[in-house]
Amino acid sequence: MDDLFLKIIAGEIPSARIYEDDVVVAFLDIHPNNKGHALVVPRTKFRNIFDGDPEVLAHMMVVGQKVARALRDGLNAEGVNLVMNNEHVAGQEVFHAHLHVIPRFKDDNAFGAFAHRTYEAGEIDTVAEKVKSAIV
Ligand code: AMP
Repeated sequence: MDDLFLKIIAGEIPSARIYEDDVVVAFLDIHPNNKGHALVVPRTKFRNIFDGDPEVLAHMMVVGQKVARALRDGLNAEGVNLVMNNEHVAGQEVFHAHLHVIPRFKDDNAFGAFAHRTYEAGEIDTVAEKVKSAIV
């Protein structure tokens, strides 16, 4: 499973490729949330957001915008979700970084909603401080 996207990039496994440049390849997800659901994948393998080159990650988002506009203009998507699953606990199954671009249509129920949990009084500041002090 780990080499799956390298094999797709090399053309050893077929894919419905929609875009490529020197840094990334984009192709359609074989089990889409909606038809047109695409994956933007770096040619050079890294595991996920935690170890990626920031410039490559930034380029994945640039191409995510291209794909989003193409889903809108080519498939009449009314919106998109851009999603990156990072590690097992967050739903990552293929450990070669990738950005999902999911086309959305009214009432399609095609992607989960946010949990919208609550903080205890003052807790949001404590959490913010812990995160802030860990940023490098
Ligand atoms: P993730 O759960 O974020 O790791 O997503 C991995 C995605 O890869 C899933 O949505 C799969 O449907 C997709 N996938 C797995 N095998 C293939 C394949 N051969 N071609 C295209 N997409 C695939």
